[in-house]
Amino acid sequence: MGGAALATQKMLKFVNVSKEMPEKRPATLRSQDFHEIYHEFAAEKAAEQAARCSQCGVPYCQSHCPLHNNIPDWLRLTAEGRLEEAYEISQATNTFPEICGRICPQDRLCEGNCVIEQSGHGTVTIGAVEKYITDTAWENGWVKPIKPMAERAESVGIIGAGPGGLAAADVLRRKGYQVTVYDRYDRAGGLLTYGIPGFKLEKPVVMQRVEQLEAGGVSFVLNCNVGVDLSFDAIRGQHDAVLIATGVYKARDVGGPGAGASGIVQALDYLTASNRKSFGDDVEAYDSGETIGFLNR
Ligand SMILES: Cc1cc2nc3c(=O)[nH]c(=O)nc-3n(C[C@H](O)[C@H](O)[C@H](O)COP(=O)(O)OP(=O)(O)OC[C@H]3O[C@@H](n4cnc5c(N)ncnc54)[C@H](O)[C@@H]3O)c2cc1C
Ligand code: SF4
Repeated sequence: MGGAALATQKMLKFVNVSKEMPEKRPATLRSQDFHEIYHEFAAEKAAEQAARCSQCGVPYCQSHCPLHNNIPDWLRLTAEGRLEEAYEISQATNTFPEICGRICPQDRLCEGNCVIEQSGHGTVTIGAVEKYITDTAWENGWVKPIKPMAERAESVGIIGAGPGGLAAADVLRRKGYQVTVYDRYDRAGGLLTYGIPGFKLEKPVVMQRVEQLEAGGVSFVLNCNVGVDLSFDAIRGQHDAVLIATGVYKARDVGGPGAGASGIVQALDYLTASNRKSFGDDVEAYDSGETIGFLNR
């Protein structure tokens, strides 16, 4: 039997197989630990769900992905049980596929535009399969530190260790540049670390990427508020190029009646404190229950 016929046999299962997400953890458990909502797919389930894809000639999932991820190819490889190759393809266009698998708004991007969704059969569960592939890659040691083909003498300073800064660090380091990332916080990751709550994105998932970048030669200068602890000119003088990736870490004040009254807490302050607690930090405002912590009573 030819390759195309074999592929057809494996794929296009949307006709008989319904859309299924990984199982949710029970609410009673989730309210205790604030960990992620979904369990991982079992291997057979990931393959079965990936096999629902119809391998479109013009894949709308891919054209609506901001990274143009080669989704149909890694779905087919997953359906065939070729997970290491699936990971290679998925990571070729994405620095953090396990993070995108968890927090991308797939309903508005790849999954929302999947032809199977459009035809009323329920989308291929692209995000959950992407998460499964990459988590499997981490478990099996397929995710390796960066090893540039050749080192370059030029250095780049990146201000901001959020996903924007880290993705740039990854790409530049792969090209052999000497990369230093500066951040005012004590941990890298930006809003992935201190904004997004753990039930959407558990923090070890972010930290393992930071460690992988460090192991590949990216230097981090943390607790360094550029403009206060170190001047921009000093950074400019140390590097051949500087990238400013400082994000928009600013809450919008609604300014309505009662704003600023005691007991009103900005969401970002709460999230930063609660994410710090999940790292095991002491957070006075949270622990005392006087300000932010009252939300936990
Ligand atoms: C509660 C919440 C939920 C979210 N959920 C999702 C989601 O589900 N899906 C999704 O796609 N997006 C989500 N987002 C948005 C996403 O987190 C941001 O779009 C993303 O983090 C922006 O990345 P960034 O690198 O541009 O900036 P940031 O993540 O903001 O990182 C910027 C970094 O720059 C550092 N910095 C700033 N100024 C200085 C300075 N002067 N010196 C040194 N360092 C500095 C900051 O400390 C920070 O670490 C969410 C955001 C929040 C707050
Ligand atoms: S749009 Fe849907 S069916 Fe078509 S290739 Fe993408 S995931 Fe598969």
